[in-house]
Amino acid sequence: MFRIQEIQSQKVTFLSLRGSAAGEDEAMTHRGLMGKIPENILNEIQDKCDIVEVISGYVSLRPSGRNFKACCPFHHEKTPSFIVSPDKQIYHCFGCNSGGNVFNFIKEHEKIDFIEAVKMLAEKTGVKLPEYRSYDDQEASIVSAVYTVNDIAANYYSGFLVGGGLKPSPTLPECYIAKRGLDESIIKKFRIGYADSSWKALLDYLTVRGIKQDTILKAGLIIKGKENSYYDLFRNRIIFPIFDVRNRIIGFGARVMDDSMPKYINSPETAVYKKGQHLYGLNFAKADIKERNFAIITEGYLDVITCHQYGVNNAIASLGTALTTEQIRLLKRYTHNVVMLYDADKAGEMASLRGLDLLLEEDINVKIATLEKDHDPDSFLRKFGRENFDQAIKKSKSLFTYKLDILKDKFNSTEPESKAETIEEMLTTINRVRNAIVKAEYIKLLAQELSVKEDAIWDELKKVKTRLERRTTTDERRNIGKSIDISPAEKILARLMLEDVNIVKIVKGELKPSDFKNQDIRNIAEALFSIDIEEGLIDVCKLINSMEDKVPQNIISFIVNEEVNIKDREKNVSDCIMTIKKENRNMLLKDIQNRLHVAQKSGYEEEEKRLVEEFNQLMKRGL
Ligand SMILES: [Zn+2]
Repeated sequence: MFRIQEIQSQKVTFLSLRGSAAGEDEAMTHRGLMGKIPENILNEIQDKCDIVEVISGYVSLRPSGRNFKACCPFHHEKTPSFIVSPDKQIYHCFGCNSGGNVFNFIKEHEKIDFIEAVKMLAEKTGVKLPEYRSYDDQEASIVSAVYTVNDIAANYYSGFLVGGGLKPSPTLPECYIAKRGLDESIIKKFRIGYADSSWKALLDYLTVRGIKQDTILKAGLIIKGKENSYYDLFRNRIIFPIFDVRNRIIGFGARVMDDSMPKYINSPETAVYKKGQHLYGLNFAKADIKERNFAIITEGYLDVITCHQYGVNNAIASLGTALTTEQIRLLKRYTHNVVMLYDADKAGEMASLRGLDLLLEEDINVKIATLEKDHDPDSFLRKFGRENFDQAIKKSKSLFTYKLDILKDKFNSTEPESKAETIEEMLTTINRVRNAIVKAEYIKLLAQELSVKEDAIWDELKKVKTRLERRTTTDERRNIGKSIDISPAEKILARLMLEDVNIVKIVKGELKPSDFKNQDIRNIAEALFSIDIEEGLIDVCKLINSMEDKVPQNIISFIVNEEVNIKDREKNVSDCIMTIKKENRNMLLKDIQNRLHVAQKSGYEEEEKRLVEEFNQLMKRGL
């Protein structure tokens, strides 16, 4: 009895080792996901928009043969490896392997989900989407529920300040706002509100309106207390809704009105709010940022709001201490120029300056402006007005100059050691500068400022470089994990199948999707084997729609775009099928051998006999 059980369990392991069971489940999920928007609707939208035109709205494309080329918007590069094919209506980057059809591009670029990307393009092309709320898609419904709850909550909070039908509450928040000199229109625009000091006011308000406790919890508006009771997260605070670029409320920031701590609390991460991915005020500022071609980055909610009240409409805030790469990339859609506006008391902090090196790495031109002592943008604007504020912005210094000035102050010496220290600190910044000319100019300047030979600085730069490179290779390697690793036989076969339906027919007769070792190729085979072969043509662009998962899309575009001409297709196909079969048989044989080894060691004679038999059968059967 024991032995049979063991053999059975081994079989199970054996099956999952080959991955076919898992692979089929995966394919089922893909089919399941597809239920959301009917394929014919997706096709209709695609037919009505040209991928070249859509991508041109974001990236400037240059013609290159039958295709278009550009520097990839998804990773940093100097020579273009991002290709858009008007024939196939797909794009692919050979640098970072992102690729797909027009929906994938919008999804990636706008950082929205697939459904939202479809919606956006549907709107653009005038295609009417069916009501798909009835389809079972938990995540999408949670996301939209959270947006809705946030919106209702924002209305509730703002009701205390602008009298949206609710009884005006304590005068304290009104006093606070009045002291800040914010006018009614700006309060309304930013939907500023107030949460009173009761523990359940919002929870009760939302519950009465039929919103489930679970949804409110998922929106991060309540916290679990003792014995399964819940209470409001924000109490006795001024509330600042946080918007995404599309004006939806993704979370809240809340500030105390006195000096108690913590001064600010924010929404926790939710289905729609991820820390470090948004910039406060960007929804209001983006048009102005684009027009004036620079953004002013301040530190807090009130700085942004006051700036906008004074007509400084390109002000945003980072919603945290340091800018993240995601935030920088988001901003880069609108400008490559940034003025960091620092409070005077923080201006000299080397640590916060070091954080700005990241901007240089992303090819952003960084300047730093400081305000008079004891002032933040909010207090400065209210005291000195717009004109003086503009002057301060005009007087901003490049990160290089700014940092050097601070270092010169700090060391204030002509000693060689101080010079070396200053140069070392400056080089970590210069090293990040992408533009070779700018870099050379900075080194020249640095040499002049410190009366050091330029060559010596170049030598030091090399040292800094190797030191930093050693430190970052491991990080980068993690990213490169995205690159595609498939056996040549599987790759060639997938390519040929995508190009020719007749080959799909041949392969289908010889192999099962589970015969492919690479999970993504397996998904592609699954999709190809299920298409209507009689139609005669494979539309890669549309095939992508039937597989929502990202990686196979990348592989499809990679395979189709790779400029390799495969000669003698028939022979190649049979060779590849052979190779795959051989590889699989070898894998099976190896697996049997391993189990045989275990059986022999443990003295399971019957099992040993059975495995030897299995091994021989497999050898006899041929391929
Ligand atoms: Zn790329």
